[in-house]
Amino acid sequence: MPDADSAAPAALASAAASRLCIACGMCCDGTMFHHVRLQPRDSAKALTALGLKLKRKRKHDHIIQPCPAYRGSQCSIYLDRPERCRLFECRQIQRVAAGEITEAAAAEKIRDALERSAHIRGLFARLGETNSKGPLTTRYEKIIAEPLDPLAEADAMVFRAELQRAMEEFEALLESDFRVQ
Ligand code: SF4
Ligand code: SF4
Repeated sequence: MPDADSAAPAALASAAASRLCIACGMCCDGTMFHHVRLQPRDSAKALTALGLKLKRKRKHDHIIQPCPAYRGSQCSIYLDRPERCRLFECRQIQRVAAGEITEAAAAEKIRDALERSAHIRGLFARLGETNSKGPLTTRYEKIIAEPLDPLAEADAMVFRAELQRAMEEFEALLESDFRVQ
């Protein structure tokens, strides 16, 4: 059990992480990841019974993202969530916990990321992509792979160029400030 001096900052960091995650959700909604790999201690049967869709890939079960348990900005199976979800902390959460940045600075970074993500989704819609299911990068790759006629589809060419730029910047932001190795 931690002593009183160490427990207080840990509890504050944990409360900050909860507030930040409720305002974010990018590691559950398909923005950052395609899937979450289950670990030996996870029960595929129990997680399926809780409504998760699993996919077997290279001898491992994975939760497909966007995660169906992500509802109303929260994990609806929080107490029973898989091990990787329990252990995952993005760089913003890690930096707040380490005292490197304030909660306000992390909140600002998350706001910026969410705005960029919404802008990208808006460009998907402008380019006629109506299927909102699937991870962000999969949706993006499908759109970019569609052939376009530069003469007959000049507007779409402009939107696509904007999408490519926005996605490139967004991926760089996720790599530097959210994903962990
Ligand atoms: S990306 Fe970070 S801040 Fe956002 S929900 Fe995941 S752990 Fe929380
Ligand atoms: S199980 Fe919960 S924490 Fe894990 S990806 Fe799904 S919504 Fe997020």
